[in-house]
Amino acid sequence: MSAGRAAPAAEIFSSFQGEGLLVGERQLFLRLRGCNLNCRFCDTPDARDSGRCRIQTAPDRPDSVAVDNPITVDRVIEAFGALDVPPGLHHSVSLTGGEPLVQAEFIAALLPRLTWPVMLETNGTLTDRLLAVRDGLDYIAMDIKLPGATGQPAQWAAHRAFLAAAMEGPTVFVKAVIAAAVTEPEIVEAARLIASVDPSIPLFLQPVTVSRDDASLRPPEVEQILRFHALARGYLSDVRVVPQMHRLSKGLR
Ligand code: SF4
Repeated sequence: MSAGRAAPAAEIFSSFQGEGLLVGERQLFLRLRGCNLNCRFCDTPDARDSGRCRIQTAPDRPDSVAVDNPITVDRVIEAFGALDVPPGLHHSVSLTGGEPLVQAEFIAALLPRLTWPVMLETNGTLTDRLLAVRDGLDYIAMDIKLPGATGQPAQWAAHRAFLAAAMEGPTVFVKAVIAAAVTEPEIVEAARLIASVDPSIPLFLQPVTVSRDDASLRPPEVEQILRFHALARGYLSDVRVVPQMHRLSKGLR
């Protein structure tokens, strides 16, 4: 088996997209393992660890089986086929993580086998790996990581290079998690960065919903959200504030 034909995954399942431009659309999710960052608010820490892959077995039941990693392209296609019943139930596939581009070689092997539109959910830092898969994608949902939310160093240069490369083909939009500790200069820097590529790229501001005993992870106050939106609108024509809907839809994955 070639190295690109199998990759470690955390789960395969059917659900509704909770963020960004395709919010509310039903998707087939492949959550790959591995990430090159370490955000403070990470809601998928298990996707960064080793472990087995949970595969949902029917679209209308939460039952799943656990299989050993790595999983193959053929296994992903089989799992998606079992979930997309009746055929056409799903709008598209979401390749998520972790950071899915850590497994870019596997994605390059998977893309030609997918019959659904494909969205990549990415932290927007691995430009070289994006170039290996970009032409097979229909949507790119790119995060901009704000240091006040992630607790990590800024990624401005990496984000700018990634966004410029992403624009050469798929529909692109940007998401940014905002927390009380995010500063106005960070919002301005992010909005300027996007505008320098294309001021019509949609930006989704997502108030953080992680609840931990960490003051830096408090959600922003309403006044802060309003100010962040107004600042971003000074540079961009499409700025939206949307809660992370999958945190609200209990009972759904
Ligand atoms: S980039 Fe995503 S998966 Fe990686 S640490 Fe940040 S939130 Fe978690």
